[in-house]
Amino acid sequence: MKPRKLSTVRSSDALRDHRGMAMSRRRFVGAGIASITLTGLAPALAPWRAAGAEAAAPGASSYQNFNVALFVELSDMRRMASNPQYMEESWNVICRYMKVGKVWLETYRDTQTTAEADVRKVKDFFAGKGIRTSGGIMATGQGRPGDRLAGFCYSNPDDREKFRKIVAYTAGLFDEILFDDLFIFNCRCELCQKAKDELGLSWTDYRLKVMKEVGEDLVVKNAKSVNPKVNLIIKPPNWYEQYQFSGYNLEAQPKAFDMIYCGTETRDAENTNMHLQPYQSYNIMRFYEHIKPGKFGGGWVDPGQRQTLNRYTEQLEDTLFARPKEITLWSYGYGLENLRQADGTAKVTSVVYEDAGDTFDKLDTFLGKLGQPYGVATYKPYNSSGEMYLHNYVGMIGVPMDMYPEFPDDRGTVFLTESAKFDPDLVSKILKHLNADKTVIITTGLLKALQGKGIERVVEVEDTGRKATMNTFTFRFSMDEEPANLYHSDSDITIPELAYGLVDSEEIIQGIYKENNRYSMLLQVRGFAKGRFFILTIPENFDDLYHLPPEILSQIRRDMMQDIPVYLDSPARICLFAYDNNTFIAKSYQPFPVRYNIVIKKAGARLFDLRSNRALQGYVNGSATFFEVRHEARTYNVYRFE
Ligand SMILES: [Zn+2]
Repeated sequence: MKPRKLSTVRSSDALRDHRGMAMSRRRFVGAGIASITLTGLAPALAPWRAAGAEAAAPGASSYQNFNVALFVELSDMRRMASNPQYMEESWNVICRYMKVGKVWLETYRDTQTTAEADVRKVKDFFAGKGIRTSGGIMATGQGRPGDRLAGFCYSNPDDREKFRKIVAYTAGLFDEILFDDLFIFNCRCELCQKAKDELGLSWTDYRLKVMKEVGEDLVVKNAKSVNPKVNLIIKPPNWYEQYQFSGYNLEAQPKAFDMIYCGTETRDAENTNMHLQPYQSYNIMRFYEHIKPGKFGGGWVDPGQRQTLNRYTEQLEDTLFARPKEITLWSYGYGLENLRQADGTAKVTSVVYEDAGDTFDKLDTFLGKLGQPYGVATYKPYNSSGEMYLHNYVGMIGVPMDMYPEFPDDRGTVFLTESAKFDPDLVSKILKHLNADKTVIITTGLLKALQGKGIERVVEVEDTGRKATMNTFTFRFSMDEEPANLYHSDSDITIPELAYGLVDSEEIIQGIYKENNRYSMLLQVRGFAKGRFFILTIPENFDDLYHLPPEILSQIRRDMMQDIPVYLDSPARICLFAYDNNTFIAKSYQPFPVRYNIVIKKAGARLFDLRSNRALQGYVNGSATFFEVRHEARTYNVYRFE
């Protein structure tokens, strides 16, 4: 177990945030909203899809680059089992738009169990269509009025026995079971209080310990004793920074389960209480790929709280940009609408599935031409938190992130945020990386956390605790030249003040307060015989990263993205998704068209629109080639370069 250094304030903030998210999910469920699961298996891994295709009438074919799965929630299971006509009609509507290869059939949710006869009816229906079926469990319990968001109490023998029976029941029906998010342990009952206190643990550590055991015994051992070939998949939610507070043990559970899966629903960043940045739908996928390589099932999107249909499309796209085997849509009934006709009959329609199908068709035409995704390696230790979700803000300023649960010492550049403080050997790893002639960039949040705890072994820089608010910035390309030109942000930005020795360190980017004082926005440390060390100043409000002038953002990109042959010389909220075969995607989250430069870091480079194969006109500037593009609002473009 990593030492916990979380302050009380951070913990309560985190819990409040997490609770808000989870509550919204619960309301979502309570409102009768079903979820959709889209899944994509690479053709070589999915022989069953071909077989299914032959057997099925609708949904006959499959996508080349991913499998699509659909989650059937408990209320849908009951409706379909009791109404075969609805089951047939609704499935026909879905197949009109999408090529679904698998359905997850839910056996349990919120104290309710799907009766075995109902499970068999629905399972047989899909088997008859040649569609693979797997089980799904939402391990939510009773709670109490006003506090319904509860899992089982795993300190309580009766609750444990209930949960054990649900898992055994489902393992008897399916060869694969997915444990949907809210497989949580947030109970604080007297049994839990006593058990925790006797062990002398924090709530987080108690929950992590119990859920490790629950995963190993009540899920894996239990399910395999019923069905030795059952494939067990744990699917934590989208709030990856906050899992540990409610018992998700990202270190232990993926080791116990056969596979992992993840929620990628970022919904609407501006207008919902989750406030997740769109880039997270991609970033969390990369994190999971590194947690259990080869055993990462895929991403999971729901259409809730999206405000616009396009926001739903974007979540599907960003999930698939990570090139998963599968994407799951939550859920069957929620994606459907029932329209009452003039003659009194009901007609089933779906704008959500039409949109999803259109998105899948488009992505399937080019995903196969992209290589493996990669980005700036960043390290978030298991069960850590700090500068919560900052990686996604960095992704939104055009720096592609590649998040690892272990220190990625084989990568050239490593970016470290405050969450890395959970590694007690972090400073030694930083020094080792630098001495291997590589680059380390830390944030001011991590600097502050490590102050007096070893960062002095690298450099003596102090967060003074003072703040400054400014709107003027300047930069230099390297420590050996003077900064030139002034650039203005479109709003005031408040940053922490650092104290350091000039000549010992130099600001690459400066913030200028009232034309007088200069503050470091990006500090580089002198004197290393090998390697490069930077401290990136994170504004007091992460959102202010989006308000930095494009020229300043581009200098951040140049220093952070030394290992990546392309960057966007653009404002914030235009994301870059890079692949290892000279292909990339630029995606705009700006609300209006933006003109900017794509910069390929070599003279005489050629750039093509990958889908149309049209060549773009560029010009050589020093050792790079610049291509001016006009990027329409909320769209993406796919490129390859030579
Ligand atoms: Zn309890």
